[in-house]
This record gives sequence, structure tokens and C-alpha cells, in this order.
Amino acid sequence: MELSGIGVSPGIVVGKAYVVAGNALSVPRIRIDVDSIDTEIRRFREALSATAQEIRQLQKKVAAEAGDEHAHILEAHVLVLEDAILIEKTIDRVRKEKLNVDHVFSEVLEQSARVLSRSTDSYLRGRAEDVRDVGRRLLRNLLGKKEKSLADIREEVIVVAHDLSPADTAGMHKEKVIGFVTDIGSRTSHTAIMARSLEIPAVVALKDISHRIKRGDRLIIDGTAGVVIINPDTAVLKEYKEKRIYFEVKEKKLRELSRLPAQSLDGHAVQLLANIEMAGDVPSAIAHGADGIGLYRTEFFYLDRMEPPSEEEQYEAYRYVASRMAPHPVVIRTMDLGGDKFVSPLEIPKELNPFMGWRGIRFCLEQPEIFETQLRAILRASTEGKLSIMFPLVSSLEELREAKRFVAKAKGDLVRERKSFNENVEIGVMIETPSAAMIADILAEQVDFFSIGTNDLIQYAIAIDRINERVAYLYRPAHPGVLRLIKRVVDAGHSKGIHVDMCGEMAGEAQFAAVLLGLGVDGFSMSPVAIPTIKSIIRSVTLSEAKKMALDVLNLSTADEVERVLGSRGVVRE
Ligand code: PEP
Ligand code: MG
Repeated sequence: MELSGIGVSPGIVVGKAYVVAGNALSVPRIRIDVDSIDTEIRRFREALSATAQEIRQLQKKVAAEAGDEHAHILEAHVLVLEDAILIEKTIDRVRKEKLNVDHVFSEVLEQSARVLSRSTDSYLRGRAEDVRDVGRRLLRNLLGKKEKSLADIREEVIVVAHDLSPADTAGMHKEKVIGFVTDIGSRTSHTAIMARSLEIPAVVALKDISHRIKRGDRLIIDGTAGVVIINPDTAVLKEYKEKRIYFEVKEKKLRELSRLPAQSLDGHAVQLLANIEMAGDVPSAIAHGADGIGLYRTEFFYLDRMEPPSEEEQYEAYRYVASRMAPHPVVIRTMDLGGDKFVSPLEIPKELNPFMGWRGIRFCLEQPEIFETQLRAILRASTEGKLSIMFPLVSSLEELREAKRFVAKAKGDLVRERKSFNENVEIGVMIETPSAAMIADILAEQVDFFSIGTNDLIQYAIAIDRINERVAYLYRPAHPGVLRLIKRVVDAGHSKGIHVDMCGEMAGEAQFAAVLLGLGVDGFSMSPVAIPTIKSIIRSVTLSEAKKMALDVLNLSTADEVERVLGSRGVVRE
């Protein structure tokens, strides 16, 4: 049986399945008499505090093994346990309905999870799983059932689960796990991040695969194609063994490439940088030969918690990344959050059009304390390496000026407090709104660099919601309108003497590497795994060929024509 999901960590692996069960707990429904109500409630309170303690312990373990950023995911779990509405509702129903607390709690919890899972916001939908996860843990404590843990793994296996949270993978024998397969998840879910940092293949979003696979089944995972094959026959096994050899040879070649400079055949050098989401992604950036970090998305810090992260916590992470990457540059993007990312997992505020709403720099400028805390942390870490600050979603000069005023204020405060920082820390702006692209010449006078965020620029320029599947076919980086905007931004930046990078997905897409080189992009920032491929393309063209290609495509009228030209000029010379 072959199933398709999302391949979130590349590579091919064949192995035995280890199914992490424990999702389905059978909870009895028992009538209780009035005298037992208090005992039930006490049992519930004890289970709440035992579970909170368990999670706190896990949090410590996760922090030690995977870093604070992963550990904070568990903060949301603690919050669920502290949710007064959930607790009171449960106790109230136990009193009124005279039913055992296990049963009542599992119903109350499922109700909350269902509300969340129906949200149109993918972040909140994800929180439904947190609620269920905590619920299962609490129920296990109420029912006195021991948790099956990944720490029990003794032989090499592929872990199959509904989902994997940091709580699940804490204490896991990493050397025994050769792949991950899960029912749900996305490129940014914990499973995906973990798999990439362990460099093992993983496929997520396979719907109900954890129910289809039995422990011991033989599996093939193709983490590149996003395919899982259950109990393959010998012909398929042979085919995948060959694919695997091919993949490994290619990987080896690409790794060798990582030591070579990113320059065109005629010696024009560019920077190939990594996009990261947490300090733990740095080893992968280094392994793939990144010339620095072109985009450190700091949102991860702020998710799944009620309180924003402290200055100290951020300082530690930024300092670590800066010093590990030194002398290479690290661009820290100030957080690009929407208003709904802060709230308790059980409330659902909504914006009608969040992508056009209260996010990015708009949010920061209205949250002085949170913004200043982040800026202070970045500035203090700037003594450790080559850090720079970048603002997301700027759409006007006023916003940029205002953001820079915050930096100046933070610097002033640090001086008064006698705390050191790099006075000359560079400031850049993301060009990801069409208005910013159109006033790039004006913005360029105020900053040290640009980074084009094509993910947003494309959605705003073509007016298509980047997560709406109905209009996904219109989302085309090859749209002549997009290419012209990019050209405009690069030319404006260069005419004012600043460098222009790109950190949207387009920068890591092989098809566009040569044309972006020709348009004059100075730095390409992408997911670390994409770096070797882009490098091999850059190294296989001359700058003049690339410039000619850029000129040619700029004269075309449609995305189809552009893609045809780029496709037919497969530039890689082996
Ligand atoms: C972008 O918009 O291209 C970008 C890099 O930012 P994000 O994907 O984080 O919005
Ligand atoms: Mg963006």
C-alpha cells in the first residue's frame, strides 16, 4: 500500500514500524453517588497537579536536549491544565450529572478541542492537538495507566504516530530512530523540525496512517517525495534501494559542493544563506554550507505561550546563533506575528483578513514593551558576531522611521545601563509589500540592506491569499509582474549602494536561481537543504549568461512563457 503525505525531511529509508499508540484511551462512564462527588473532585485536582508536574519535568528534559525553544511548546500544555473554564466546567458537571470525573473531563476537553479544530486559522487548529495531548496525559493519570514511551525503543525503527510533540520525543533513543511518519503535521510542526535536525527522512500529514500500520510492518519512507509504502514487495524494495543509492550519491556530491564558493563560472560571487526558525537549526545551516543566516524567523519564540519571551531568553538564543555562525552574518527578523498568536489556546479572536491585518511591524509598533525587549536582546547579542536587524512587512517610510526610533531608544537605554552592544549593527528591511517595492529607492536611503520576501510579495502583488487552495494556481513567482517588482527593488537598492538579498521560497527554487543571479540579487536565503542545489546552478552559469536570461524573461508577457523559457534552459552543467 502506498500513501502520500508531505515530505518534510528528505531521504529514503527502509525499516520496521514502531507504532506509538496510546491515542485511544477507553474511558468508562460511571454513575456516582452524592457522597463520592468530593472524592472525584479531589482525584481530579490531584491528577491536574500530577500532570502539571509531569509536564514541568518533561520541559526540563526537552530544554536540556533540544533547547528552550522546543521546551516552550510545552508551555501551552501547562496552560491547558490551568484553564479555569475547563476545570470549573468539569467540576460543575460532575456535581450536576453525578458522573465519574474521567468521563466528564474527556467530554469537556473534546468539546474545546473540536471548537479549535474547526477554526479557519491553521495555528489554532494546531492547538487542538495540544489540548488533546494534555487531555490524554491527564486521563492516563486519572485512570492510573502508564504511558508508553519512545524511550522503550531498543532496535532501529521508523516511528509511526498520530503526531509527535516535544513531550513524545524527549528521552527518545535518537540513534535508534531512522524515520518518522505521522497522521498530521506540516513543514513547521515539531516532527518536521526534529526530523530535519536529526537528518532522518520524515513524511507527515498522512491522515490515518497510524491506524493502518501495525508494529513490525515493513515500511519504506521517501521523505523527498512524501511517500510511505507499507509492506512493499521485493520489486518495489529493489526499486527504492536503487533510489536510495542514487539519493546518497547525490547528497554526497552536494555536500562536497558545500565547501566550494558560491560563484558563477566567471567569478561573480553571491551569498547563499539559510533561513532558520530556531537556534537548533544552526547545525543544519552549517552542514549545508550556508554563508550565514539570511532570515532568522523569531516568531517561534512567541507561539504557544501567554507571556512573551524574556529579554534574557532571547539574548541567549541570539548570542548562540551569532557566535556559532561568526564571522558569518546573521539577520534576525523581528517577530512577524498576527494578533491572534498570543492568546490562550482556548480563546479564538478572529480577523477577517489576517494577512492584511495586524501583523509584522504593525503589531510591533503598537506593542512597545514586547518590541523593545526583542530589540534589546538582539542589540546585546550583537557583540558576539555579525548580527543585523530586519523589519517585516514594512509598507511605508513612516513605519520604517518609527521602527528605527525604537532601535535608537533601545540603544540609548543600553548605553545608560552600561550594557555593551555593537553601535554599528546593520538595519535592513524586508521588501514584501508592493508599496515597499514601489518606494524601494526611498527606503534604501534609510537602511543597510533589503531582503525581498517573495512569499508575501507575491501574494500581495497578485492578490492571492497564500494559503487559499482555490487560488493557489495563480500564485506564480514567474509572473512578469513579480519579476518586474524584483528588478525594481534590486536596481533601487544598488543605485543607493546597498545589497539586496531574497529570503522568500523563490530564492531556493532551482528554476529561478540563474534568472535571480542575472537580475542582480546579492544574497539568496533559503531552507538549508536547498543550498547545495542552488550553489550547483550558480556555479554552472556565467554572469553574462544569467543577465541575458534575465533580460529575455523580463520581455515576456505571461508566467507560462517565463516558465517555458526557464524550464528549457536547464542550466545545471554536471
Ligand atoms: C516572505 O514573505 O517571503 C518571508 C520570507 O517571510 P515569511 O514567509 O516568514 O512571511
Ligand atoms: Mg513574509
